[in-house]
Amino acid sequence: MVTPFRQFIVKLHSRCDLACNHCYVYEHADQSWRSRPKVISAQTAGRVAARIAEHVRQHGVDRIDVVLHGGEPLLAGHERLDEVARELRDALDPECQLDLHIQTNGILLDERYCDLFAEHGIQVGVSLDGDRAANDRHRRYASGRSSYDQVIRAVELLRKRPDIYAGLLCTIDVANEPITVYEALRELEPPRTDFLLPYATWDSPPERWSTTAYADWLLAVFERWNADGRPMSVRLFESIIRTARGEASLSEAVGLEPSTMIVIDTDGSYELVDSLKVAYDGAPATGYDVFRHALDEVAAHPGVLARQGGLESLSATCRACPIVASCGGGLYTHRFRAGSFDNPSVYCADLFKLISHVRDKTELPAHKIPYATLDSLATGFGGAADIERLADAQLSLRRALIAALRPHAADGVWELLTRLDRHHREALEAVLAHPYVRVWAVACLGGEGEATYLANIAAAALIRAGQDVTLQVAVEGGAVHLPTVGTLKGADGGTVTLVAEAGDIRIEGTGPGHGAPEWLPVRTVGCGDFSLVLEDADPHRDCHQWPPADRLDESALSAWQRSFEAAWCLIEKEYPQYAQGLRGGLTTLTPLASAPAGRDVSSTARHAFGAVAAALPGDPATLALLLIHEYQHVKLGAVLDLFDLFGKDDTRLYHAPWRTDPRPLEGLFQGTYAHIGVTDFWRTRRNVVRGAAQVKAQEEFARWCGHTLAATGTLADSRALTPLGERFVARMRQTVAAWQAGEEAPWS
Ligand code: SF4
Repeated sequence: MVTPFRQFIVKLHSRCDLACNHCYVYEHADQSWRSRPKVISAQTAGRVAARIAEHVRQHGVDRIDVVLHGGEPLLAGHERLDEVARELRDALDPECQLDLHIQTNGILLDERYCDLFAEHGIQVGVSLDGDRAANDRHRRYASGRSSYDQVIRAVELLRKRPDIYAGLLCTIDVANEPITVYEALRELEPPRTDFLLPYATWDSPPERWSTTAYADWLLAVFERWNADGRPMSVRLFESIIRTARGEASLSEAVGLEPSTMIVIDTDGSYELVDSLKVAYDGAPATGYDVFRHALDEVAAHPGVLARQGGLESLSATCRACPIVASCGGGLYTHRFRAGSFDNPSVYCADLFKLISHVRDKTELPAHKIPYATLDSLATGFGGAADIERLADAQLSLRRALIAALRPHAADGVWELLTRLDRHHREALEAVLAHPYVRVWAVACLGGEGEATYLANIAAAALIRAGQDVTLQVAVEGGAVHLPTVGTLKGADGGTVTLVAEAGDIRIEGTGPGHGAPEWLPVRTVGCGDFSLVLEDADPHRDCHQWPPADRLDESALSAWQRSFEAAWCLIEKEYPQYAQGLRGGLTTLTPLASAPAGRDVSSTARHAFGAVAAALPGDPATLALLLIHEYQHVKLGAVLDLFDLFGKDDTRLYHAPWRTDPRPLEGLFQGTYAHIGVTDFWRTRRNVVRGAAQVKAQEEFARWCGHTLAATGTLADSRALTPLGERFVARMRQTVAAWQAGEEAPWS
């Protein structure tokens, strides 16, 4: 399975009207430009468009970037540029969104080009190294004449055309004064700027007077950019900030994302990333071209795959580096030394200093968790502290959801919640942490729930804090529900005035008897010092795969209590590695309606972190298994709330060994993670029971171990995982592989 290309650098012209001495096309090892046609032909452009269209159709890619490049692309002339853009749009619109860009030195830019770009929706980036002195240090004509005035004229033209002005690209020279360069660029009001480290390898290192000269230069700019309130987008800095937050990089220069870029030259030959030209003569060549080869063939080329290997493909030094998730070993080309790319970047010291500094200054959103926690959860387990971090992240998420509902809050309710947050935060957070509060909030934001329920949340928090309440609250299904507190059953209308005084909770104007609503407090099941809410009243609990049970009578409640007590004793004794995680985040057990005869049913809901739902199984050991199994789903769901472990645009279906129907990737991921718990349950059970039960436990262990290991292989081979996802799945796999080999998991 190949990773489809999403970015195409299409060369329109192989020569340039400038002779910049830092240019990777003409001034470095690879001299292949000498043998290329100067201008892309109409026939080649047609094949390029057809190949790209064929590729995106085959892979269901719905958005791509095409960058028209060179040499200097404007040398191709207005007509050819028009033809190329038209070919691309005709081949791709409307099935695939085509984001067209052009990167130019600006020398030939004129009104006619601008009109052409506007007509075809082409975004224009101009290469400019700063003020006149900085720019003239490298960006000159072959005669030595300055190009500065022409470039500025081009940028001024673009400033009058904001619809096509994309930004500026600056190659760093540490001999230039960083703030002068920054200010010169800023003055031109580019929507986006990028700073490029000069192309270099270990064999041909950059000029520098200290090991971190480039980091120091960039940090001066970074600090000024921050102090100025980040007036323009700076791709390198934003990529570091994004990767520090666990998001995808915007640039190949940093990050662990697989490269999805391919270059197509003026003769239609496919080339690897252009910057490889600095490594050795012929380095970017693939031997493939648009006339004879489909892009899928190119996607399987070792040179392409080498830039898609994520963490595993990096040098040992990089793999052990604490900032590797942000750095990713830097630009592939910069790693080249003596015929090999298995090295850190030649800019390693610069990258380490720059990224460490920017990361330290990056404010992580409150609901992010450290990588160490992610690694711990990826083993299939996760200690109490890890689960508490997930729970904290969930709380942060719920606060964000509640905040989004603020415009819908009834008069005074938002102010009341704010006061509760200030003076009775623990009580408010206990209510917000109730699993079905998020289910309601998500439905409400989707236009399906009642925002008046915000008042019920406030009322529940007030009651928990021991405060008196007189508040207009929502009635749902003939009852007033107060999450984590209880339910007043038998209420009429859309809203009623709730009164709570000294433990007496009623609807205003009603009294004991005379059909007054019945107060049904929340009940719990427990064992020793651990207890769970037994949620059998909240209307938002009806979000599981199976329908919930109605309010339990006393005998059913006792049966749940007995079964839970025995199940929890078993978990604490035999499965302590899960007990600590369950204690950290499981708060609620939701009884489901009885299943068809002989069937154990259980479920979790993605938005109900902290809840496991089940029909009462026949024996406590099965309840223990259901709790362990379902809680794995709870954990992974919370991880997926925070991190992209796989590409969301992967629509393929995968075989899950335990099902007859193929599953989407998330379903396979969830099932695999959950079955680590199931496998471990039976692995331990083999040593606890005897006789026929032991034989069954052994069989179940062998079955689930095989299934789960196979599924981790399917996930790993899907090529749909993000670098974080690859790392996560690799750890899952290590756990199960050790069990299959009869060993303990490496982290036990
Ligand atoms: S800072 Fe150096 S060692 Fe660390 S990932 Fe980047 S290149 Fe590799």
